[in-house]
Amino acid sequence: MDARARAAVAAGKAAGFVARRLARRGGTALPGLVAERVCPALLARYAGQLGGGCVLITGTNGKTTAARLLAAVLEAARRPYVHNREGSNLTRGIASALLAESTLAGQLRTGPGSIGLFETDEATLPRAASLLRPRAMVFTNLFRDQLDRYGEVESVAAFWREALEAAPRDAVLVLCADDPSVAELASGWDGPVHWFGIEDARLASADAGAADARWCRACGTSFAYERRFFAHIGHWHCPGCGRRRPRPDTAATDVSLSLDDARFEVSGIGPLRLRLTGLYNVWNALAATSAARVLGIGPEAIRNGLAAAAPAFGRQERVEVEGRVLRLFLTKNPAGANQVLHLLAMVERPLAVAALLNDRFADGQDPSWVWDVDYERLAGRVGRCWAGGDRSEDMALRLVYAGWPEPEAVVRTPSQLLEAVLASVRPGEEVFVLATYTAMLELRELLARRGYVRPWW
Ligand SMILES: [Zn+2]
Repeated sequence: MDARARAAVAAGKAAGFVARRLARRGGTALPGLVAERVCPALLARYAGQLGGGCVLITGTNGKTTAARLLAAVLEAARRPYVHNREGSNLTRGIASALLAESTLAGQLRTGPGSIGLFETDEATLPRAASLLRPRAMVFTNLFRDQLDRYGEVESVAAFWREALEAAPRDAVLVLCADDPSVAELASGWDGPVHWFGIEDARLASADAGAADARWCRACGTSFAYERRFFAHIGHWHCPGCGRRRPRPDTAATDVSLSLDDARFEVSGIGPLRLRLTGLYNVWNALAATSAARVLGIGPEAIRNGLAAAAPAFGRQERVEVEGRVLRLFLTKNPAGANQVLHLLAMVERPLAVAALLNDRFADGQDPSWVWDVDYERLAGRVGRCWAGGDRSEDMALRLVYAGWPEPEAVVRTPSQLLEAVLASVRPGEEVFVLATYTAMLELRELLARRGYVRPWW
C-alpha cells in the first residue's frame, strides 16, 4: 500500500477505536467513512490483496441473506474471506469490514487468497464495481421498494447498467432468470453469465399477488407468464419480440417448504436443506449456490454451508419468551411483506400476528406502502392480532380493512406490545411478528435486554 492508503488505514482504525469506546454498537461504518475521506480509492488498494476475487451481491430484497448464505458456504469450504456482515452496504461499510481484518500497515490478516464478499447497496454498485474489480456480481431481484421512493426501479436499473460499464469484462454476472428486470442486464453484457431460477411448477400460481407492471425494454410489450410465482417473478416471455426467461444453470426442483425449513434439489449439487423458509429464501440460496460455483467451490461445501447457515437479523428468528414462541419477520416493502404473508398462509391453524409499523428514515417515511401489501390473503386465517410501532393506528386500520379481527392492542412501544402479547398468549402458543426495520431493531433490543435473545451487536 502507498503512504496515502496507509494513512487512511491508520485514520480509519483510530476512528474505529474511538467509536467502540463511545458507542454501544460495534457495526459502525465510521472507520470506513474516515479512511475513505483520507484515501478515496482505498478499496482499490485492498482489491489487490483479495486474491480469491470479490463477489458483490445486490438487489432489492435478499442481498443480506444471500451474502450470509454464501459466507456459510465459504466457512464450510474453509476459504478465507472478508464480509461486510455487520452493517453498512455502502463503500464505507465495505471499507470498514476490510479495515477490521487488516493490520495497521493495511495487510489483510485473512491472507492473500482471501475472497471479498460484499453486500452492496443498489446505488453504490457502480462505484464498488469500479474500485473492487469484482470476479462475480450477483443480482437477486428488482422490486420497487416503497411508495416514497417511487420511480426507483428505473433509476436502480440505470445504476446497474452503469456498474456493468465499470466492471471487468471477465466478471461473471449471476442473474435471477425468473426476474425479467434482472434478466435484461444480460443483453448489455458480453461477458459470462450464470443464471439461477426455480423450475418447480407446483409453486407457481394464477393468483400471484399484485404485479408491478413490467415491460420489455427491447420492444415495450408487457411480459406474459407461463407460470408466475409472485409479483413479476416467474417463467416469463415477451410476446412482442420473443425474448424469454433463460434456462437456469443453477435450478431448484422438488421444492418443499415448512415453517422451519426449505428443502429442494439442485442438479449437480444434490438435495439441499435450508434452516430458512419461504420461496424467497430458495432464490437467496440459489444466488449463494451460483456464486459459490463461480468461485469453484464443490457440492459438499455448498450443501453443508447452506444447512449450517443461521437466519440473519430479524429474518425468521425464533425466540422463546416465557414459553411462548415469537417468530420474527422483517417486512420492509410490499414485495417482501407479501412473501411473508404467502408463507403464513401455509399454516393450518388460526394465526396470531403482531404487525409493527414505524415511519423513520430507515423504514421509509411514507407508511402508506402497507396499502400495497396483500393482508387480505390472510383474512379469515388470523385469529388474533396486535398493532404496534410509531404508526400503530395506521397499521390497525390497514389490518381491519383487510378483514382481520380488531387488534387486541394498538400500542406504540415494543414493551407495551410485548406486554399485550404475553397477557393473552398462553405458553406453547406461537405469535408471528412482522416488523419494519427500526421496529424490529427496537423489539430485538428489548428482547436482548430481557435475556431472551443474544444482542445482535
Ligand atoms: Zn420484447
